[in-house]
Amino acid sequence: MPKQDEFMNLSKMNFDVSEEQEMILEQVDRACKEFRPIEDRYYLEHKINDQTRPFFAKAHLLGLPVSRRYGDGQGADMVTYALAIERIGREGTGVRTFFSVHMALGQMTVQHWGNEEQKNRILTPATKGDAILAFGLTEPNAGSDPASLTTYFEEKGGKYQITGQKMWISLGSSSKYVLVFAYPKGRREGMSGFIVDTESPGFKAELIPHKLGLPTADTSTLYLDKVEVTKEDVLGPPGKGMSVALSGLMNGRLSVAAGCVGVIQDCLDEAVSYAGVRVQHGKVIGKHQLVQRHIGLMATNLEAARLLLLQAAFVKQKYEENPGNTELRDATDLACARAKYFAANASFDAANRAVQIFGGNGYSLENRPARHFADTRVTMIYEGANEIMEQKLALGALGKGFEAYS
Ligand SMILES: Cc1cc2nc3c(=O)[nH]c(=O)nc-3n(C[C@H](O)[C@H](O)[C@H](O)COP(=O)(O)OP(=O)(O)OC[C@H]3O[C@@H](n4cnc5c(N)ncnc54)[C@H](O)[C@@H]3O)c2cc1C
Repeated sequence: MPKQDEFMNLSKMNFDVSEEQEMILEQVDRACKEFRPIEDRYYLEHKINDQTRPFFAKAHLLGLPVSRRYGDGQGADMVTYALAIERIGREGTGVRTFFSVHMALGQMTVQHWGNEEQKNRILTPATKGDAILAFGLTEPNAGSDPASLTTYFEEKGGKYQITGQKMWISLGSSSKYVLVFAYPKGRREGMSGFIVDTESPGFKAELIPHKLGLPTADTSTLYLDKVEVTKEDVLGPPGKGMSVALSGLMNGRLSVAAGCVGVIQDCLDEAVSYAGVRVQHGKVIGKHQLVQRHIGLMATNLEAARLLLLQAAFVKQKYEENPGNTELRDATDLACARAKYFAANASFDAANRAVQIFGGNGYSLENRPARHFADTRVTMIYEGANEIMEQKLALGALGKGFEAYS
């Protein structure tokens, strides 16, 4: 069991951001304000927003968590990074998912597990937006149980050929590299992680149509037919792919939590301004106590979700500074899961309440609450569905002896 008291004592946590970090956050805020009308337009046209990459590359914001040694890396600490993603989350879960996948699942995983050659090769263009990263773990028959995946690799002439299908892969059709997880052919152990160039022969991506939400985001099915990679493309120690994948998901959960806090903030802002001008029964609806109840709950959940996020970011930063400390890793894993679980549910609740406050107008995608309602629903599914998070958090309290699948 991680020593939670030691690592998560709020009184020892300092969330102050330095002047330099504040500048990063101001830069993010300015870019988001400018980006909003672009995302609005794509959303209402139900089109994948192909401006996200060039827009944020031009703003030098595609390398936030990456060391300054690589390309446009900003070297942001985890608290600054989390606050930046929270700000981006206010713009919508579609645009925030772009950041979560490219940065948390992609860049942070390569930064943690990659060797120097891989970091130079992948992170340098990735921070400049010249190469977008995706993360291919889920398959048609392997989601919550990634150990059951069937994508496999075989060694041929000193190289590897990967064959299989990946499903629900964010940025799958717009990425240059996908981190693909596969077993050796004929085995169900020894999973490895690979950096796959999507321009390789045998690689195909297809957009998934008719999604419930996220119309501006690329979500794809990937088909790999003997896609060739070299030994230099193996990410992390051979056979340790599951650890690589799980660490990617931990990064991803922090990012999802941050985005969800942004969604709650935006829903609250929208609800407060609407409740201040919409008049029914002779007064603004913000003066009706049942409307106030919605706003009070949203405001409380916002603060709770943000504190859980900051706690997770703080502990994650400590882990980044001590990557060999397994107790710290376990504490970070739990803190990220807790923040993601709470913020995801609270963001859907906030979107639901904001839609309600807007009444009939809440049902129109012209208004932001309806978009958040459709889009944030996915956060209770991806990067660990609610039920999987509940089990993980329960084990954090009960201890690993209660593991159901060991
Ligand atoms: C828009 C979108 C984007 C995505 N992006 C990516 C991506 O970039 N990369 C990637 O690899 N994946 C991605 N995913 C996939 C996502 O991570 C999976 O959908 C998720 O892990 C759930 O897996 P599944 O869909 O197979 O559901 P299943 O695992 O089949 O689960 C179905 C239901 O059963 C429950 N369940 C399963 N096992 C248990 C259990 N042991 N106990 C209790 N309940 C259980 C689940 O909680 C869920 O409610 C994305 C998904 C979506 C929708």
